[in-house]
Amino acid sequence: MKYTLAIHGGAGTIDPNKMTPAKEVAYRTGLMNALQAGEKILASGGSSLDAVEAAVITLENDALFNAGRGSVFTHDGKHEMDASLMRGDTLEAGAVAGVRGVQNPITLARAIIEKSEHVMLCRDGAEAFAKSIDLPFQDEEYFFDAFRHEQWQQALKENVIQLDHADDKKFGTVGAVALDSHGNLAAATSTGGMTNKRWGRAGDSPIIGAGTYANNQTCAISCTGHGEFFIRAVVAYDISCLIEYKGMSLQQACDFVVKDKLVKFGGEGGLIAADVHGNLILPFNSSGMYRGWLKNDVPPTVRIYKD
Ligand code: ASP
Repeated sequence: MKYTLAIHGGAGTIDPNKMTPAKEVAYRTGLMNALQAGEKILASGGSSLDAVEAAVITLENDALFNAGRGSVFTHDGKHEMDASLMRGDTLEAGAVAGVRGVQNPITLARAIIEKSEHVMLCRDGAEAFAKSIDLPFQDEEYFFDAFRHEQWQQALKENVIQLDHADDKKFGTVGAVALDSHGNLAAATSTGGMTNKRWGRAGDSPIIGAGTYANNQTCAISCTGHGEFFIRAVVAYDISCLIEYKGMSLQQACDFVVKDKLVKFGGEGGLIAADVHGNLILPFNSSGMYRGWLKNDVPPTVRIYKD
């Protein structure tokens, strides 16, 4: 039985000198838990869609990461979350932007595929839909994280809108891509976005083709990085197009987009990518990316820095 799974917990300036051993263990454990949640499904013949959702839920529930619980603060001191998910067999996709209080935005994104006739729902409307199908909500306290609060206070003081990637800051957009034993790909991404964001700002994470894409003919991609650049470079679909129309391998397409095109464009970040041949590529142009992977014949592995 052939399957693969890769996950990320955000890319950015990750300085090993500022990482305490305890913090590093916590990150590694969080990533490992997500890999295990996905592998349990894949190893028993489950779908890649179930696997990426399970992995992302695990990361959303972990306050270390900037998604679900532990999401960054908006300018108004709230948490507004974005998420999307796509299946490679049918090209069906679901996305939510700017939702508040929803415990697991990725599950809401999936419900949009399965329980609505739409692809993307935003803010109040998305919340009303989540309530109509009885998805769990949590109060503000659940999403609160002391470090994020401090980050927000600092950003307010400096009057900046801060990516969760800046030096010495907590990282955290999360994502997963998988190939299941039936030969189907899926991708999922979830985030709290940028600290001190306002005016309903949404990044690339909820945008199909920018932050997330899956197509059995090409690849499954989940991105993390400076969303504005990833939207303008249509990163996830660009990689798929290079494979489909130019005949590039997954590795070639990822290297070109992340290490050449995005760098020239000024877009810092990275992504995780899978194809139907069992390849997994996890490129980034920042100093680090919280990431992990496994295959049916490769044990779960997690990495943080360039190595
Ligand atoms: N891409 C996300 C955004 O711009 C942030 C991240 O990946 O950490 O909202």
